[in-house]
Amino acid sequence: MTSRRTDGGADAVVVGAGVNGLVAANLVADAGWSVVVLEQQPTAGGAVRTDSEVADDFRHDTFSAFYPFAAASPVMASLDLERWGLRWCHAPAVLGNPLPDGSWALLTRDRESVAARFDRAHPGDGAAWLELVQQWDAVGPALMGSLLSPFPPVRHGVPLLARLAREPGLATARALLSGVRSLGEERFGGEGPRLLLAGNAGHADFSPEGAGSGIFGLIMTMLGQTVGFPAPEGGAGALTDALVRRLEDRGGEVRLGVDVAEVQVEAGRAVAVRTADGERLAAGRAVLADVAAPRLYGGLVADRHLPARTRHGIARFAWDPATVKVDWALSDPVPWDPAPEVAPGCVHICDSVDELTLTSAQVAAGSLPARPFLLTGQMTTTDPTRSPPGTESFWAYTHVPQQVRADAGADDLTGDWDRGDAERFADRMQARLERYAPGFGSRVIARRVLSPPELERRNANLVGGAINGGTAQLQQSLVFRPVPGLGRAGTPIRGLFLAGASAHPGGGVHGAPGANAARAALAADRRAALRAGRR
Ligand SMILES: Cc1cc2nc3c(=O)[nH]c(=O)nc-3n(C[C@H](O)[C@H](O)[C@H](O)COP(=O)(O)OP(=O)(O)OC[C@H]3O[C@@H](n4cnc5c(N)ncnc54)[C@H](O)[C@@H]3O)c2cc1C
Repeated sequence: MTSRRTDGGADAVVVGAGVNGLVAANLVADAGWSVVVLEQQPTAGGAVRTDSEVADDFRHDTFSAFYPFAAASPVMASLDLERWGLRWCHAPAVLGNPLPDGSWALLTRDRESVAARFDRAHPGDGAAWLELVQQWDAVGPALMGSLLSPFPPVRHGVPLLARLAREPGLATARALLSGVRSLGEERFGGEGPRLLLAGNAGHADFSPEGAGSGIFGLIMTMLGQTVGFPAPEGGAGALTDALVRRLEDRGGEVRLGVDVAEVQVEAGRAVAVRTADGERLAAGRAVLADVAAPRLYGGLVADRHLPARTRHGIARFAWDPATVKVDWALSDPVPWDPAPEVAPGCVHICDSVDELTLTSAQVAAGSLPARPFLLTGQMTTTDPTRSPPGTESFWAYTHVPQQVRADAGADDLTGDWDRGDAERFADRMQARLERYAPGFGSRVIARRVLSPPELERRNANLVGGAINGGTAQLQQSLVFRPVPGLGRAGTPIRGLFLAGASAHPGGGVHGAPGANAARAALAADRRAALRAGRR
């Protein structure tokens, strides 16, 4: 195919070098298009980046860290990123959650040993676990294929429906539709498996009773069981580096420190972008926007170019909660007491499913949670290159309200993040760790707190500290993402495609929104070429 490069621009201009922007850029470059990716920050990767600013010789993933979705994603597999230097690491155990009675709920990739541990804690739970995993085996790959392709999922959807309509798929369909609390309570007597499932639903903004929590909790847990929670050797940024290297090999270009201020539209078609510095880059075939939907519609694209239904839809767009993330450089491993039988990479800190319900309710009601649910990562345990031998590169994050109205804890915090509340809330998070790892504080060499506004300063897509590109609740998923009727990557503007996590299927590092946008752009261009008799 001949490239139709225009002065200062390219066939495709991609706004944002997040994983989705880079996946989109790679796919259009594979088709022979010239492509330039414009990134506001001084570093590519968006929420997939690593830095060394916490302490010398320590590498911390600034945002995301574990990539089960990438491991299960057909598009990521098709990019063959291992050829471009990506190496995956796995911790000895995938996930753990210490319980107040001194036991641990542990997930390893060996289903038999997971089942044996659950059975020891509560006889019968082992067989129930193996049954759940077998049910997943029957539908999981088709389900993931459907979720990670454009909606409606034509290729994977029909076989998926056929499998879901008969046993054991029927049981899985019911499990998927349940809230994650009832899913756990129906199947298991012990707290361990219930808590792992519910905690995994808590990676997105799902309370244990919420619609969709069963789907998300089950998917995350079963991906952990089957593909693990892998992390790139050397840091999350190694995944970005591989995407950039692959793109550059195909002639694509990533320009850093370029803030795109406008997508220019002429006669209903995106024709160029204008940067904050006033430079105009023409887009010969498409603009692919890896930006949050409300920053695209009515932001980069002026309202006057948008139909009323899009303007009204975006006015009702719902963000996911805000996030506080803390990174620690530790002189020694986390002193868990008791230590888990097998060391997990990812650790949830949550006493019970009931506690998770209360915490979710507090966040939903605008209160800073008294006992925040922590998602944490032992990164040196997962990948020894992250810090010197015998130390630990560690992080934790938790969800907090976008608009703080009260503090459910005893500190009277107001959510004034830039004036000290971030450090005080981080102390609350650290106190939770101290409960299960006495002496944690004495091992801290350095600590960095990323408050909601700080997260957004480092990545404009993390609006108010939302990490998912908008709520993952069902009312804003599938055909409702980002607004009702726009379930696909196309937008009301010809030649403009939404390529980021605000598009179906949402947040997580799987590259699906980027791939959907690239494929939609290529298909639209083919149709236009046929109409124009170009080929
Ligand atoms: C703290 C945190 C932890 C997470 N943990 C995990 C995890 O462990 N596993 C997982 O799978 N997912 C995780 N996620 C979610 C996942 O990282 C994101 O869903 C995913 O990376 C989104 O990719 P994206 O390409 O859509 O957008 P982003 O990664 O947000 O990239 C968008 C890029 O566009 C740039 N940009 C925005 N506006 C402009 C503009 N006007 N001009 C130029 N450039 C612009 C931004 O600077 C950014 O680089 C986490 C996210 C966060 C924030």
